[in-house]
Amino acid sequence: MEKSNAYITRQMSARKRIALIAHDHKKHDLIEWAVHNKEQLQKHQLFATGTTGKMLEAALDMHVTQFLSGPLGGDQQIGAKIAEGQIDAVVFFWDPMEALPHDPDIKALLRLAATWNIPTACNRATADFMMTSPLMRQEYEVLLTDYTNYLTRKL
Ligand code: PGA
Repeated sequence: MEKSNAYITRQMSARKRIALIAHDHKKHDLIEWAVHNKEQLQKHQLFATGTTGKMLEAALDMHVTQFLSGPLGGDQQIGAKIAEGQIDAVVFFWDPMEALPHDPDIKALLRLAATWNIPTACNRATADFMMTSPLMRQEYEVLLTDYTNYLTRKL
């Protein structure tokens, strides 16, 4: 059996940095969900891909940091922020019924979210569970795989 992983930790503050993304057929869903959770979301700091961000800003009446539109690199920008430890949670309503030109970018973003142990809601029910979790309103210690062995490997 393989040796179990060693862990390090990262502190998440009570005010979360949440990235939101929705594919075109899921945008209506996300906006409806966001309006329903407006009071909660206003306590956090929001980031989004371009079009999603514009729609959220108008619907929530609050500032949303906007990256490029997803197909133009927005998903990759959010992935980079995750790798830099600058995103705490992701709400990503991706469309399971449509192949999109930026499929590799979507996969890359979801991979980085898994790598960095980022809570990631890919549908409305999970987003509801996430937003109603008491952990959304308090500090949280995130366990991260310690990659020291990998980083110091002999080549
Ligand atoms: P958009 O990007 O918010 O700019 O539409 C989302 C996506 O398609 O990844």
